[in-house]
Amino acid sequence: KPAPNDLRAFWMPFTSNRQFKAAPRMLVSAKDMHYTAADGREILDGTAGLWCCNAGHCRPKITEAVQNQVAELDYAPAFQMGHPLAFELANRLVDIAPDGIDHAFYCNSGSEAVDTALKIALAYHRARGEGTRTRLIGRERGYHGVGFGGISVGGIVNNRRFFGSLLAGVDHLPHTHLPENVFTKGQPEHGANLADDLERIVALHGAETIAAVIVEPMAGSTGVLMPPKGYLERLREITRKHGILLIFDEVITGFGRLGSPFAAQHFGVTPDMITCAKGLTNGVIPMGAVLTSGAIHDAFMTGPEHVIELFHGYTYSGNPVACAAGIATLDTYEDEGLLTRAAELDQHWQEALHGLRDLPHVIDIRNMGLIGAVELKGIDGQPGKRAFDAFLKAYEAGILIRVTGDTIAMSPPLIISKAQIDELIGKLAEVLKAID
Ligand code: PMP
Repeated sequence: KPAPNDLRAFWMPFTSNRQFKAAPRMLVSAKDMHYTAADGREILDGTAGLWCCNAGHCRPKITEAVQNQVAELDYAPAFQMGHPLAFELANRLVDIAPDGIDHAFYCNSGSEAVDTALKIALAYHRARGEGTRTRLIGRERGYHGVGFGGISVGGIVNNRRFFGSLLAGVDHLPHTHLPENVFTKGQPEHGANLADDLERIVALHGAETIAAVIVEPMAGSTGVLMPPKGYLERLREITRKHGILLIFDEVITGFGRLGSPFAAQHFGVTPDMITCAKGLTNGVIPMGAVLTSGAIHDAFMTGPEHVIELFHGYTYSGNPVACAAGIATLDTYEDEGLLTRAAELDQHWQEALHGLRDLPHVIDIRNMGLIGAVELKGIDGQPGKRAFDAFLKAYEAGILIRVTGDTIAMSPPLIISKAQIDELIGKLAEVLKAID
């Protein structure tokens, strides 16, 4: 048997992984707000794993639910046959979703949820006799996972440049990142008019060719970019006017990150579909879902005959163990008031974070709910290096932060205390003073 720290065969295709292989940072256990590293050190989790462990780590109720479910009914398909947990979780999800979103379609990840939503959008128009609507619109600096649909509508050119032709007929709205040194608290005041570019795309191609617009209500993985006030409202108006579906990718913002169950409620804008994953099971078991409006569901499922079958689904869609994890996770969020906790901590978080503004290299700070971004001035010719150095130093100092380009992103578990916020930001301040 190979030794547990034998990394020969392990491959994740990220550059940072080369550094990881040279000096592995191994996590061996976790509890609540902390990871324990192989060397025995406690690491304060400033990122909820990868934006997913919203209730913190190894929460007994979720652990127990998964253990019991594995022993009781390990696997059962959730189509053609069923099991009660799949129905229960779907109802629970639509209960916390915005009004008008009332069906849930299960997948296994955020990427699958995105590809599923895009396929549903295309099929929906076809089911209604509008099969010319095939164009999909994303955003520059949008991130929607790594499926073929997701990288096509995603705005990160590096993520798609090696893969040849992807989905045809995709446009990208200009991104909403506003000038640096603004140190915006919450939503920027100006920039809603960036949504009007959608009108330009509609005029160019004709509304009858456009199926859907997909956006993250708050872009996470491309640097934590807040939507300017009025931006999402404007997108909703324009899409509605032209019969275009609006999809919110809430893989990051779902489940309390902004202080409400979904960002849709935080912004008061209801899309036609919401994609979610990550916090759906607190990161414990892979699971994603597409939540849809009744109109979308009805286009496939009502009428004299099924107008069109939606040939789509996964072996593990709605599997019992994932559903049990999802239900126990929602129980935990609800019992502990976690879906609104980010709103309660907002002021404290904002003040702590913006206290970093005068430290070396800091050129912008952004916050919303329990998400924060500290953008550093990049080093010429070495994009991302300074922020990655900060990540390494932070890990040594006992805090976990995340880096996207030259931006440090933080999204701690929603159970974080005010004292732990102060510890996280205090240690980050020391790190920023120490890096070149
Ligand atoms: N959409 C968004 C907005 C995301 O942030 C992510 C993952 N960071 C995904 C989709 C893809 O999710 P997954 O990694 O579970 O496939």
